[in-house]
Amino acid sequence: MATPTVARCWRCQDEHRPQVFCPACEALQPLPPDIDYFTLFGLARHPRLDEQALAQTYYELSRQLHPDLHQTGTAQEREASLQNTALVNRAYRTLRDPVQRGRYWLALNGEPLGKENNKVPPALALFVFEVQEKLAAVREARPAETEGTQDALAGLRAEMTQVRDDLDDRMRDLQHRLAANFSKWGQADGSSALLSELKRVLSEMAYLRTLTRDVEKALSIL
Ligand SMILES: [Zn+2]
Repeated sequence: MATPTVARCWRCQDEHRPQVFCPACEALQPLPPDIDYFTLFGLARHPRLDEQALAQTYYELSRQLHPDLHQTGTAQEREASLQNTALVNRAYRTLRDPVQRGRYWLALNGEPLGKENNKVPPALALFVFEVQEKLAAVREARPAETEGTQDALAGLRAEMTQVRDDLDDRMRDLQHRLAANFSKWGQADGSSALLSELKRVLSEMAYLRTLTRDVEKALSIL
């Protein structure tokens, strides 16, 4: 894990932890590009975070960094305002979404989700197989529509709706598991078990997301 280093103010040379404004002279500071997103928002480095505090800090920073405010500043300050704004936006998009935050947390721990996580997660194999079969049935049913097989189509629509509800339930369950996983970090129990569980949950969520898109598409043509 990268640790936050000490930053030195370009104007007054004060040394402090990396932050947007120098605590000594309040000059706008260019943030180190590799600053971790938690530190950027002044949050503890932990995947469970106070989403309200995150949003508040984000709006505050966005306001303070707004390029309009720094038009009359030095070139360094104008540049810092642009770069910091881009960084803050990227960090906020990542941290506010638990799935993206989870993936970011894995990367921060040197354990990014890899190619081996793109396969169908074993826990979902049977479910995915069943959904794929139904999706295939929808594709095959399309040409027959003009021949007036409305009942068959209505049946498929009911089945797909059921599948979508099922997907929603599974997604909610995974969201709970994700939140539970986040809250356990930093406790005494082994982090390798937490890591594997986090990878498993995030892989399943990514897979269900793709499946949900396919099912929505099928429903839109039925
Ligand atoms: Zn300073």
